[in-house]
Amino acid sequence: MKNIAILCSGGDVSGMNPAIKHFVEYALEKELTPYFVYDGFKGLIENKIVKATHKDVAGIINRGGTILGSARSKKFMEKKFREVAKKNLDALNIDMLVVLGGDGSFRGMDIFYKEQGIKFCGIPSTIDNDINGTEYCLGVDTALNVIKESIDNIRDTAASFSRAFVIETMGRDCGYLALVSALTCGAELCLIPEVEYDLKEYEKSFKKQIKNGRRYFIAVVSEGIKEESSEIAKWFEEKIGFESRATILGHTQRGGNPTIYDRLMAYKFVNHALDGMLEGRDESVICYTKKGFEYKSIDEVANKKYQLDDKLLSYLKKF
Ligand code: ATP
Repeated sequence: MKNIAILCSGGDVSGMNPAIKHFVEYALEKELTPYFVYDGFKGLIENKIVKATHKDVAGIINRGGTILGSARSKKFMEKKFREVAKKNLDALNIDMLVVLGGDGSFRGMDIFYKEQGIKFCGIPSTIDNDINGTEYCLGVDTALNVIKESIDNIRDTAASFSRAFVIETMGRDCGYLALVSALTCGAELCLIPEVEYDLKEYEKSFKKQIKNGRRYFIAVVSEGIKEESSEIAKWFEEKIGFESRATILGHTQRGGNPTIYDRLMAYKFVNHALDGMLEGRDESVICYTKKGFEYKSIDEVANKKYQLDDKLLSYLKKF
């Protein structure tokens, strides 16, 4: 039997546990011996590699985060430590890895493969949805649903008190979470890093809306915009004349039990990852596109900046 391992690297997302569960089940079905690597690349170096069984993945499908733990490892950037990682894998006869992570993790694996010959398939996993070449990253749907809950809750209090609420979402320099949340939760204002804005342009329209009876405002802003969310709240107070509060959703967006969509995507990503490796794809990332699932090279995925979909961006202008 051939051996194959799975690890999580970079930020954790909800959806990793269903992926880990299916990895064990599908590997066994394909007559592979599954292994866990705890704590990402750090665990590879520290030899935290353990054979996995069905029992290890019982009762995890509904849990957020990852039972394997994730990590960022500076050591993995150095060849001498990657050699240690390779030795640890060799000792267990493992030469295939499934990696749940972001573009940084795939860049690390690219070097590891070229230098040490460990084959891998990457599964894009980040709530930011900012990996080039894939329209969907594991964890995004759960994060959007967590944001939706928060905005719906905030709307209740905003309406009661006649306030403006500025809600900040994660995403680094990608506005995907903010834009989709604003569209689907009925925000009056959405600011994202990809699009220049001038708050002055909203003043006339917002004041007119108040005159026409608007009792509250919901603004969804992405963390990567040029201003702090507290400054946008101040603008509401000073220029629109509305009492205002800023809420930074922060790491709540990374938690929560995985949605059905993320559980299903976890299943499909893992299936394709293992099938690809068994077909002889030694280095790839499994991406979800308009054509379905596609295997892409590291260059296509990790070495190009993500661009927000034009169609999605065009909706922002209609606000
Ligand atoms: P997230 O989107 O959550 O940040 P990520 O996978 O992009 O996920 P990074 O912190 O960029 O997260 O990378 C994860 C790990 O990958 C790093 O801690 C490091 O161990 C490894 N890595 C990244 N780039 C390289 C590289 N050029 N060489 C070797 N290892 C790397």
